[in-house]
Parts: sequence; structure tokens; C-alpha cells
Amino acid sequence: MTMKFCSFASGSSGNCYLIKSEETAVLIDAGISGKRILAGLEETGTPREMVSAILVTHEHIDHVKSLPVMTKRIPGLQVYANEATWDQIDRPVPEERRELFETGEEFQIGDLTIRPFPVSHDAAEPVGFSIYGDGQQISVCTDSGFISDEIFEEIAEADLLLLEANHEKEMLLFGRYPYPLKQRILGDEGHLSNLHCGECLCRIVNEKPKRRMVLLGHLSHENNTPEVAMQAIINTLEEDRIFTGDDLQIEVAMRDQISDIYEL
Ligand SMILES: [Zn+2]
Ligand SMILES: [Zn+2]
Repeated sequence: MTMKFCSFASGSSGNCYLIKSEETAVLIDAGISGKRILAGLEETGTPREMVSAILVTHEHIDHVKSLPVMTKRIPGLQVYANEATWDQIDRPVPEERRELFETGEEFQIGDLTIRPFPVSHDAAEPVGFSIYGDGQQISVCTDSGFISDEIFEEIAEADLLLLEANHEKEMLLFGRYPYPLKQRILGDEGHLSNLHCGECLCRIVNEKPKRRMVLLGHLSHENNTPEVAMQAIINTLEEDRIFTGDDLQIEVAMRDQISDIYEL
């Protein structure tokens, strides 16, 4: 069995990722229009009835926007979130389509094992997800103001890691966002900066050497660009004498473009 990953969109205006094995497909978040999600399924050759779940990271609109329309479009699909998140989701999802998980406890969907882990963000009980299949690990970790040791352990051995590179600190500070919003983004429960993303990757490579694919995600439209994020992170890695190559490939998951299909 091989696992495949595709980002349909990543950023503050909407997030949605597809992970699939030969027999099971799940989405992480549904923060873009239903139309774009269905187009993504089509483009990746994923029959919609194959999609059995949407896993919800947290209740912010860029992650839950299309939950109602997706449950309508795909009759067999169930939506998974923890209890505190369900309490805050303001989109109508019929009771019988809701599933509950406990943060930190693994569960199974088809031949995929799902592990929700806590992240640090200003939402009720935000999580990242690691998905395991056939000895391989895919981890998605965005919307986290910092990477604690606990989060580090959850993501460090991922074969494919989508890690947040939200903003370049100077662009944010000199930009036009109001001061309280700047403080929110920079805080421990905000979003991960390019620098902190780069430092986390240094630690991952140094402590857990292996071959891995890294996708930079949840880039800010206002306070980052794909080029700035990539350069900032490569600079941080190179200061630590870490270079991209066969063992470490890095690409950007774009805000408004479907990514390649990554096959593990
Ligand atoms: Zn978000
Ligand atoms: Zn958020």
C-alpha cells in the first residue's frame, strides 16, 4: 500500500488536504468552497464516494467553511472533531454525520490510522494530525504559535510533513495589520513564523535523520510570499549546515493552487 498526499489549498483563506491509500481517502479540513474540493478530488482521480471522512483541526472558518456542503455532496462522509471543537463549529452539520475523537488517542478509518495531537493556537482545542499507513507517516501541523517538545515528537518522524510557515516577522511588523492582530499572530497561540519553522526543521533533521518531504503551508497572503518563505527557511537551514537534496526536499503548498500528488 502506498499513501498519497495532495494539498488543495493552504493558507489563511482556506485549507484542505487529501490523504489516501488504495482503499481509503480522507480530507483534513474543508475551508475552501465545495466546488474547489470536488475539483480537487476529480483532479487527483479520487471518486467522491471513496472519501469517508473530513478530519477537522479547529473551528476557524478557514478550516470548516464547507463542512455542510460536503456532507450534502458525499452521502457516506463523516466529519471528525473533538468535543470542544464541535461546541464551537458554527456551521450546521447533521448530528448523525458527526464523529468524536479524543485528542491524543489514535483511531482507525479504513486502513489508515489517525492520530490527533494538540497544537498551540487560539481555538477551543486545536489539533494537528498524523496519519499512518503501511509504516509511513504523514503529518500536518499548522495554526500553532510555537512548536513545543510534545509537538516536535509528534511530527519529527513524518515521511511527509506539512509544516506552517505563516509569516516573515518583519513583513508582519511593518505591515498594515492593526497592532492587536499582530500581537495575536506573533503570540504563542498564533501562527508559526518562517524563522520558527526553519528552526524546527533544523532540529528535526539533526535529531531524526531520514529521508523526508517537507511542504510549507498556511502562508499569509499579507505577510509572506512563497519565495520569501522558501528563502528564509533555506537560510536558517544553511546556517546550521543543512542543505536540501535527496534526503530533504522542500516545496510550498500554495494558497490558491492544487499541489502535485506526493506518493510515499
Ligand atoms: Zn488557519
Ligand atoms: Zn486558526
